Amino acid sequence: MKVTGFPSNPGPAAWDAILPTRARFGALEAEETSDWLVIGAGFAGLAAARRLSQLAPGDKVTVLDALRVGEGPAGRNTGFMIDLPHDLASSDYGGDVSADKSIIARNRAAIAFAQDMVDVLGVPREAFQKVGKINGAASAKGIQHNAEYAAHLTQLGEPSEGLDARQMQDITGSTYYNGGLFTPGTVMLQPALFVRSVAHKLRSNRVRIYEQSKVVGLERANGLWHARCERGVVKAPKVILAVNGHAQSFGHFKRRLVHVYTYGSMSKAFPTERLTGKENWGLTPADPLGSTVRRISDARGSRVIVRNRFTYEPNMTVNPAKLDRVWRTHDASFKVRFPELDGLEVEHRWGGHLCLSLNNVPAFGEIDEGLFSACCQNGLGTVQGTLGGMMAAELATGHHSDMLAQMQTLDTPKRLPPEPIATFGARVRLMWGERQAGVEL
Ligand SMILES: Cc1cc2nc3c(=O)[nH]c(=O)nc-3n(C[C@H](O)[C@H](O)[C@H](O)COP(=O)(O)OP(=O)(O)OC[C@H]3O[C@@H](n4cnc5c(N)ncnc54)[C@H](O)[C@@H]3O)c2cc1C
Repeated sequence: MKVTGFPSNPGPAAWDAILPTRARFGALEAEETSDWLVIGAGFAGLAAARRLSQLAPGDKVTVLDALRVGEGPAGRNTGFMIDLPHDLASSDYGGDVSADKSIIARNRAAIAFAQDMVDVLGVPREAFQKVGKINGAASAKGIQHNAEYAAHLTQLGEPSEGLDARQMQDITGSTYYNGGLFTPGTVMLQPALFVRSVAHKLRSNRVRIYEQSKVVGLERANGLWHARCERGVVKAPKVILAVNGHAQSFGHFKRRLVHVYTYGSMSKAFPTERLTGKENWGLTPADPLGSTVRRISDARGSRVIVRNRFTYEPNMTVNPAKLDRVWRTHDASFKVRFPELDGLEVEHRWGGHLCLSLNNVPAFGEIDEGLFSACCQNGLGTVQGTLGGMMAAELATGHHSDMLAQMQTLDTPKRLPPEPIATFGARVRLMWGERQAGVEL
């Protein structure tokens, strides 16, 4: 079948752009046969390739990505690898207690797997730091959300620590926040450094990685899948599809996936002493539709990153006319939090594609003979993509584990309502949610 849509993410991948340039992986330019083909080199695809190399060490694995590694959503997110429930559709991220316990177990399995890649493959430590995160609250409603989330965490047996306005200022250097909730289990990624490094370290004479190689057609003939790129073909008996929302472009999960974009702005580097507080921290908003904020620092100075706004984009592209409004929101969110950084320029602005399902489940499993899906990460792809890739590799190799058994009990993504109700409903829901987020945005 012909692939009907390709990745489109506005603006540069800032986390990749601030790294030193690196050697290219090269594009696929020949016909080759492999034991395994993984399509997509994000969190899911790289985790799948790693798990395949553990479970079938003598086999050849080929990974293809349409973009350069680190330039897709895996390298353009905000880098929170969160161990706790983080349901973006809930008012305080939490859900049902027993379901949330399973989610925590799955997220932690993914983090442990990523930690193992860091240790064994030798990924730079600055790409992966288990330092926790704060849910920042700037309003009475935000404080209330944090209190509800803290109570929910207590029910789950999970530690958290409440922070007052003074402690928030000591950490962030901003007087904007009235309170916060610290949880220790989040890993903060330099996402592009992480995916670039994992890909480079995985590459060997058994694992081949090609970038700028978009798959334009995928068909099965004589027991082999044929993945056609513009200048080459890979033939393999088994394929792991790790393209998140683009599963739909390959003809799968049609009208079951919700395509949303979210956006980031990163300041220029500024002298570290220009902002008080700690040099590195990460803050998610108490209201899920508020602003995520990070500060990162190294020898070249500090940068602040703001991420907010979600837009519903069923065609998986963003009309550039929308972006100016998003950037204006970013600038306003930045200014109210850091008035002392007035005049500091934004260096990079970008957006990226997320895929959600109405029932917050992944698009996972064997979807055709020898074709396995590790897609739809519900906005938390650093962990859920990693887990999906690991589990797809286990399923495809016939490896049994409790985690795989748990994944197989999950529902499939629920069907969307018919158009125009789906688009109208999603846009109204986002607009209403962002209005409710108030000063947390
Ligand atoms: C601004 C922003 C902030 C975010 N913040 C966070 C965060 O803090 N924490 C978090 O957990 N998540 C966050 N996310 C979401 C996270 O980035 C995604 O959920 C995650 O990248 C999904 O991982 P994945 O491997 O499933 O898919 P992707 O990272 O999207 O990788 C899929 C790959 O498939 C490739 N592909 C698609 N079609 C084809 C084709 N035809 N041929 C070849 N290759 C193809 C794409 O190029 C892409 O590289 C954020 C996203 C954005 C945009």
